[in-house]
Amino acid sequence: MKDWPTDRSRYLDGFACPWKRLLHNHAFGMGIEKNTLYAPLATGISIHSALELVLKSKATTREEVSGVIGDPLDTYMKQAVDQQFENPQEEIGQQIAIVQALAHAYTRTTVPWIHEQFDIVDVEASQAVRLPDSNIIWRSRPDFVTRTKNTSFNSLDAPPAVGKLAIHDFKSSAYWSDSDASQWADSLQQMLNAYVASQVYGERVEHYYIHILVKGTKKSPSYLTHPSYRPGNLPIVEEDILPYYTAKKGYARVFAPHIPLSIPDWVWKMPAAYVAKTVPVVGPFEVNYNKVERFLAGLPNNERAWQQNLEGLDWQNWSTASFQQKLDERFPRTYNCYEFGGRKCQFYSICHHGPGWQDPLGSKEFRVRVPHHLIGEESEE
Ligand code: SF4
Repeated sequence: MKDWPTDRSRYLDGFACPWKRLLHNHAFGMGIEKNTLYAPLATGISIHSALELVLKSKATTREEVSGVIGDPLDTYMKQAVDQQFENPQEEIGQQIAIVQALAHAYTRTTVPWIHEQFDIVDVEASQAVRLPDSNIIWRSRPDFVTRTKNTSFNSLDAPPAVGKLAIHDFKSSAYWSDSDASQWADSLQQMLNAYVASQVYGERVEHYYIHILVKGTKKSPSYLTHPSYRPGNLPIVEEDILPYYTAKKGYARVFAPHIPLSIPDWVWKMPAAYVAKTVPVVGPFEVNYNKVERFLAGLPNNERAWQQNLEGLDWQNWSTASFQQKLDERFPRTYNCYEFGGRKCQFYSICHHGPGWQDPLGSKEFRVRVPHHLIGEESEE
């Protein structure tokens, strides 16, 4: 029987609404996606790409980071111009600024800790295992994998013993407070990544870390990109830039390109404690293998049902009543059409028969899906 690749993202989409999984992963061959960019997701992907290059190149200085992140920034700019944001009020410049600022912030405060405490084993490596006695290939892609070499440098709680592997994942987030850390203590996604890595490396992976990248919001932007600025008026008043809000006279929050320092210069100049608040690391969290096994036990039946239901579908017939009827019977919709924050599901216009639903690709509202590097991590925020 042909191999059947699957991953956490499509699996969970299938439970949220079978049509979400159907359209995103199987329709018209590869699945389809909106032809516009959703800024939080696009920015998160770009930050991942930038940090991947930082880690792969072992960049540790301001100049080295600037040298390696040019490509992801250019790609993001080109994508935003070609495809445009789903919400046209998003400003490309501000999104790119936060990617650039977080790459420098992470390199300044987190990368030294990583290199001191760990050897990096893999960065953004696609990993996959075949589930026992099945054609199901479970795929994952941890952001990076380490082996502990030193537990004495600025350690978080109870680090993995020297010589042990650990999984690390980046999560971009609009906000962060330390009390949010507990939400990651029981993450099935990370535990599944650890399970796959255990099979791939042939040794048990017991721990994972989450590296938070705090982007800020339109209303409450990051101080990395929007410091409090007071222009100088010498010899009476000196120019001043602060990484926090102040009600003092003469200060205003200003987008960093409008102050006389570049974003990298500002990130490397501001007090390190403020930079660290934008890139906190939480963990190590322990992998619960009982939970992983219980989850995987239920997976094959579900995937087999998908394989059977997809058999014999000729997508050329998409707009015919009989084909739609067949899809409705095999993949009952839940109509959970609004996501966290009130954003509509990207397939809303199809399921609600908006203009062009009969020809999603021809209408240019959708395109054949381009799988990006965040396997299992496609629904950020
Ligand atoms: S729009 Fe609604 S019904 Fe359609 S896939 Fe999304 S959640 Fe399901």
